[in-house]
Amino acid sequence: MDKKSSLFSKISEQEKNAVLFDRTGNFSERSFKERISHYSEALLNSFIMSYPAGPMTEYISKEIEIGGKHHFFQKINSSFKITSPENLKIKLEEREGQMRMISDINEVIESGDILIGEAPPGTGKSLAYLIPLIRSLKDSRRAVISTNTKNLQMQLFNKDLDIASDFTGVSVSASMLKGIGNYFCFLKYNENLQKITPLTKLALEGFLAFSSSGDLSELKYYNDLDMNDITCDNEYCLEATCPFSSICLYLKVREKALSSQIIFTNHYLTLIDAELKNKFFGEYQSIVFDEAHNLEGAITDVYSYKFDFIYAVRMMNYFIHTFKNQMKFIRSSNLSTDAVNFFDNLLTTMNDASEETDMLFKFMLDVAETEKKERNEYSFRIFRGIEEKVKSLAGKLYATANNADKGIKILKEEKFRMLDIYQTLKYISEKTNRFFEGFSVVSQADNEEYAFFYEYDIRRKNVILNGLPVDTGEMFSKILLSREDVSFVFTSATLTAANSFEMFKQQTGIKNLKRHCREDSYESSFDYEKQMKVVCFKGIEDPNNEGFMEKASEVIEILLNREKRMFVLATSYAQIDYLKTKFKDKRFLFQKKEENGDKLLHLHKQRKASVLVGTNMFWEGVDLPGDLLEIIVILKMPFAVPDDPIIKRRCRVMEENNRDPFREYTLPQAIIKLKQGMGRLIRNKNDSGEIYILDERILTKSYGRSVLSSFYVKPEVADYKIFINEKKEK
Ligand code: SF4
Repeated sequence: MDKKSSLFSKISEQEKNAVLFDRTGNFSERSFKERISHYSEALLNSFIMSYPAGPMTEYISKEIEIGGKHHFFQKINSSFKITSPENLKIKLEEREGQMRMISDINEVIESGDILIGEAPPGTGKSLAYLIPLIRSLKDSRRAVISTNTKNLQMQLFNKDLDIASDFTGVSVSASMLKGIGNYFCFLKYNENLQKITPLTKLALEGFLAFSSSGDLSELKYYNDLDMNDITCDNEYCLEATCPFSSICLYLKVREKALSSQIIFTNHYLTLIDAELKNKFFGEYQSIVFDEAHNLEGAITDVYSYKFDFIYAVRMMNYFIHTFKNQMKFIRSSNLSTDAVNFFDNLLTTMNDASEETDMLFKFMLDVAETEKKERNEYSFRIFRGIEEKVKSLAGKLYATANNADKGIKILKEEKFRMLDIYQTLKYISEKTNRFFEGFSVVSQADNEEYAFFYEYDIRRKNVILNGLPVDTGEMFSKILLSREDVSFVFTSATLTAANSFEMFKQQTGIKNLKRHCREDSYESSFDYEKQMKVVCFKGIEDPNNEGFMEKASEVIEILLNREKRMFVLATSYAQIDYLKTKFKDKRFLFQKKEENGDKLLHLHKQRKASVLVGTNMFWEGVDLPGDLLEIIVILKMPFAVPDDPIIKRRCRVMEENNRDPFREYTLPQAIIKLKQGMGRLIRNKNDSGEIYILDERILTKSYGRSVLSSFYVKPEVADYKIFINEKKEK
């Protein structure tokens, strides 16, 4: 081994990753060399100067010495493209459901109506809406496609759009737009430069050389990086007045989006854009909501009020610290005495607001610790005895926001030039205004249209006060009414429960709308009868009874012998914990609370006969074709947690209106989730597999009929005892 190669072998994986940030995979010397050749010599030299001497710096020095470096680095535009169709080279496989969906969407686009279309896996729904949409983009018509997950957003933009463009022979300009927190912010980076390690700086500089969108999903190295140090939010962003506005990639992406014919985005941003009168997207004539079964959650989020104590305390301290430092410059400047006094007073108000937030935080922690509940409904009465303090904090937050705003005007009048101080004041004003709005609503807690509850995070010792809208339909129908000139398509693999769209129409307000709306379910091209086997157990035990998990473990134990990759879909962490103590087998992967599922999925794919035990995030959005997933075990019907305050409140309101919350809300929601879970199994025409449902209530309770009628195939019924005995004998 020559000296250079032996040096290479000593470089840690983490260090290599810093340079191989844009591609995962093998760290061969050759690929490593290619990577570092992407950077300018000056950048590599600055890295060598600031990174501690070691094999990495020595190796890079040797490479520079050899002088063989060249720049073949191509910037890629990952958020904007103009498709170049290959003139109808593509033929689509005949799929009846897809053809019907294309034709319906064509009509809806022309008439400006609404379509609600359920399209199970195998329908080919992405192309079914992309093809008519692309064809409609004439005469400066524009369209938006909104999804719930980033995965689907990327797949549509990077793959399906090109297929649709090839098929139609139509070239379109398209943009992918995410929320501001997904993009690199130069201003924040500049502010936090001192905190960022040389290795991370190198990775970030390389990322910026590589990315033309600033989308941080392209950054693969962020081990020691606090994302808050390089991302910003709407209140922080200075937009056109930012000193970095001319190079800001986020602003460029937004600009491109405004001129694109088709925008790929997410539900959250779509709803915000509608509130802000098309600030991000501009005018459009058609919109498709894919993964529309998640719209209720997105509407709830966007129209909710929140006051997160730890976050508020942290932000207030940050403002005080930053502004205190800046006061030194204000005092030594030639600003008038009145102006300096004004800013001194502002600092005092901020200090008071911070102290009062702290005091109230302690009060709420006491309340939460006494109640010992993770989520608990409350009304304004919770603040009995400290009403004056609550009022005072709201006043201080309002005064801070208002005076920071006034401060900006004073600085302008006195022709003050320090940009940093303008930026801080703008941030203080917008953020504390947000705090004020949120806090006023959640502390008054007297609006019937909202459910008020606090969340108690025992681990972080935090309390968050929430106000969530009870009737999402009320909120969303305003958007539908204000866009009468826009055609709407709502689609998902799961929009119906027992063949009815009723719940979805309630959640979106379509139910009470005068606009013409059609609804349909499209056929899948999969042969579910042949590809999928569903087994429901009887005689096993009610899943709410003690002893159920023991019996469920026995079924799982038997299925383990099949040596196939398996999912066990749980409805609580308590179930996961139970199975964790039961199975020490290395094949098992257990989801932990607050864990990102990507790592588990990666391991699941790598291991043969892996058993992944997970909750919520694995019930939907996971695509594991072929032998990556052949068996699914569903422990229990995924009913929402009954004492979840927002569910409780929604149910109560339904009861008050003489409606049946179980039949109209809780049950359909659970069926839709169950269908999502089952939908993980068959991902293409060659897939096959088995689903075992261990909740016998779908056979014994009256509501079971609605559940069973929602399945893709008629299930087999297995007697638990016979199943166990037979398999044991084998
Ligand atoms: S314009 Fe906004 S996102 Fe861009 S660098 Fe400035 S503050 Fe950051």
